[in-house]
Amino acid sequence: MKSLWNDKEAAPFPGDLGLRVYTSRLLGRDNTLVLHGGGNTSVKIAEKNLLGEDETLLYVKGSGWDLEHIEAEGFSPIHIDRLLKLAKLKKLSDPQMMNELLTHRVRASAPTPSVEAILHAILPYQYVDHTHADAVIAITNTADGLSRIREIYGDNVVVVPYVMPGFDLARRCAEQFAADVRKNTIGMVLMNHGIFSFGKTAQESYERMIDLVTWAENYLAKYKAWVLPEASEKPMEKPLRRELAGLRRELSVTAGFPVILAAHEDAASLAFARREDIATISQQGPATPDHVLRTKRVPMVGRDVKAYAEAYKKYFNEHAPKAKEPKTMLDPAPRVILDREFGVATVGRSAKDAAITYDIYAQTMEVIQRATALGGWQALSAKDIFDVEYWDLEQAKLVGGGRPPVFGGEVALVTGAASGIGKACVDSLLARGAAVVGLDINPAITGLYSRPDYLGLVSDVTDEKQLIEALEKTACTFGGLDMLILNAGIFPPGCRIDSLTTMEWDKVMRLNLDANLMLLREAHPLLKLAPKGGRVTVIGSKNVPAPGPGAAAYSASKAALNQLARVAALEWGADNIRINSLHPNAVFDTGIWTEEVLQARAKHYGLTVEQYKKRNVLKVEVTSRDVAELAAEMCGPLFAKTTAAQVPVDGGNERVI
Ligand code: ZN
Repeated sequence: MKSLWNDKEAAPFPGDLGLRVYTSRLLGRDNTLVLHGGGNTSVKIAEKNLLGEDETLLYVKGSGWDLEHIEAEGFSPIHIDRLLKLAKLKKLSDPQMMNELLTHRVRASAPTPSVEAILHAILPYQYVDHTHADAVIAITNTADGLSRIREIYGDNVVVVPYVMPGFDLARRCAEQFAADVRKNTIGMVLMNHGIFSFGKTAQESYERMIDLVTWAENYLAKYKAWVLPEASEKPMEKPLRRELAGLRRELSVTAGFPVILAAHEDAASLAFARREDIATISQQGPATPDHVLRTKRVPMVGRDVKAYAEAYKKYFNEHAPKAKEPKTMLDPAPRVILDREFGVATVGRSAKDAAITYDIYAQTMEVIQRATALGGWQALSAKDIFDVEYWDLEQAKLVGGGRPPVFGGEVALVTGAASGIGKACVDSLLARGAAVVGLDINPAITGLYSRPDYLGLVSDVTDEKQLIEALEKTACTFGGLDMLILNAGIFPPGCRIDSLTTMEWDKVMRLNLDANLMLLREAHPLLKLAPKGGRVTVIGSKNVPAPGPGAAAYSASKAALNQLARVAALEWGADNIRINSLHPNAVFDTGIWTEEVLQARAKHYGLTVEQYKKRNVLKVEVTSRDVAELAAEMCGPLFAKTTAAQVPVDGGNERVI
């Protein structure tokens, strides 16, 4: 591990706090040191307050900030004197401790200080850095971890046996540090948790962290436990979408809410899931207590959700205090699944959630494999893990999330999604918390958004093979399919029946009708497994109830699609799938309606463009967003008891009315 310190880069960061920001970011850049909000740093600064009095403040990382992107305001300034007095108390509950941290900040807008603030305060150095470095954890989480840590570091570090994070840990560290500190001490190792470094300057403290972790890496290398086994595993070729969707349904029922199930079939994940000893090494517990809520105590090996939930209930009952404050069991569904066929799958309330859990587990896999190579992975006891999982402060994090979005944990697929109504549908669904797959023949679809809850696939919906592939990718990425928006279609140039060629007719039918039949047919097994029931919204057309001359192929295709949707509603009601249509008209903010075309059409009717756009009963302009919002709502609870409905979104059309 190399120091990333660079004088030139550091220069623009002003003062002690500025350099604290800089080296915190350096730590944050390395995933093997800190990951997703893990780790924390601090600096002690003497300042004059408003009254001209001298005081020393501890600036400690606030929650909600990750080190990689932290700014000066991400550090919470607290009166250090108060913290040092607290550290001497025999007893302090964690909620009391948090109350003290919050009430002794000197900036009202500062974030909630890290729960490890007191621990930072008691270390008598200006700069303190704390990480959950993978290499150190791989060594501490072995049967003889303690003697190995002593062998590596001697009295360069103070070693603290495992204590759950919170006040008791801070106190224990204070005592251990006072007893064991030597002249050459530059850090502190917390068994089964992580490592601290400290120093007079930001650079010194940071570079000591790099040194200490490098020693651990070298130690692992010496015992042939650093280089991970080569992975060349290949995913199985057989389709997995129905199995994944079935599993996701079971997980959702067990959790009590819809979940995203994200499968990772990369060689490393498959190699890990296919290890001979997987049933042993994966069942010990997480790498650090920090990860319990994300990964649950242990992953599920295989697909028996019922057995997993039973085991979880047993674990809860064994460890939950029977005393006056009974704990309420969290949902018993797993968050990580190890499977020989689909590798490592993670479960979350949203795609982002599942992605973070995967990042964490990907590193856990490395830590487990290194510790196993070193002589045997051994994590915390089930009781210790329970205490963290059901810790008051962790529980507060869980309930603090507010109401989940209406489509949280659900998956939608939109065709023709690169522009116009389709793209607006993607936006409306994302805004409601769904993970969205956009299909389009236009390659721009892949780059529409770069976020974990969006997947853009280039796909010709008239090609059966490509459609099936898209559904397979959907299920592998998000676990299944809940909502389908049939939007892709063409509106060919006007042509009267007497000159309509068979080729043109076929082309329109293939895209506007046949493609939708194929997609409905192939999506049906997945929609049937949707935890809250499948939903389909068909983007129809005003031309269904009120066709226009010169649009025979278009009107006929949309009318046939309308009839197809009605039959689907009849056939699929028993599968709890609803299918509704909406009929837009005169939506002009799409690609085909350039300013030029609009002007020509308006002129043709002797109207201004403005008048032309609002040529309806309500005299309103109908936008892509209007259509998309209705399409999304039709998948929502408002339409929960409606199927086979046809709703116009056209500002009122006299021929339709
Ligand atoms: Zn920590």
